[in-house]
Amino acid sequence: MGADLHAHSTASDGVLSPAELVRAAAAVGLTALALTDHDSTAGVAEAAAAAAQAGLRLVPGVELSTDAIGREVHILGYFCAGRAPLEELLAEMRAARRRRLEQMVERLRAAGLPVALERVLALAGAGAPGRAHVARALVEAGCAASVEEAFDRYLLPGRPGYVPRRKLHPGEAVRAVIAAGGVAVLAHPGLVGDDGVLPELLAAGLGGIEVHYPAHTAAQVAHYARLAEELGLIATGGSDFHGRGERWGDLGSVTVPAAVVDRLEEAAARAR
Ligand code: MN
Ligand code: MN
Ligand code: MN
Repeated sequence: MGADLHAHSTASDGVLSPAELVRAAAAVGLTALALTDHDSTAGVAEAAAAAAQAGLRLVPGVELSTDAIGREVHILGYFCAGRAPLEELLAEMRAARRRRLEQMVERLRAAGLPVALERVLALAGAGAPGRAHVARALVEAGCAASVEEAFDRYLLPGRPGYVPRRKLHPGEAVRAVIAAGGVAVLAHPGLVGDDGVLPELLAAGLGGIEVHYPAHTAAQVAHYARLAEELGLIATGGSDFHGRGERWGDLGSVTVPAAVVDRLEEAAARAR
């Protein structure tokens, strides 16, 4: 059935644990699966152990959220999990996220709103705490009727609880993946909607582009397949599975041949 090179577990916003995800991948007949949690490699060890049991090839990965001018750009990093330059970057991003959360709560409290950091962290559970959890805490405290209203009144730019995010630039993410001995791939370029980001990524050493993706139209697949060919990039693909019935694709609904995994691994080896 091939390789699904884009999937999330409970290490970010997926529904299945890393081991459950791997078993589900084997059950639908995948021969390879990439675990690509948002800004975290915490699930890779568990997934690798489960994959060894299930006889499935696990591709260690991560999906980095970055900000280009006015757009969110996601960079997939393969074969770089657990290597220092990447893990240092992830740790720095986690620390920045935590500082931002503390500052948001401080500002809201200074404005007289009864929101507690402990409650925000509890609402986030094992996931990465963020603005949405602050909003939920504000709703709980009776400061807003809905999460949307909490954002509108307190958490958007210009509002009392707003604190800007530490931004990671796309080129910085690509360079961190390569410095960690991995290969960097532009995720769902059709969702970015603007190929203007490509020159910077290519200059930083981009190795691939996610051609096959649930939300890509046939025209977009053809366009990005041609770009990959022209630019010498590896054409990858995956379902962006988050859980059955969740939005994005079902596990194994988008696959690429196993040879693509070999090409990624070779590209990563050349970077070392
Ligand atoms: Mn997600
Ligand atoms: Mn994404
Ligand atoms: Mn994703």
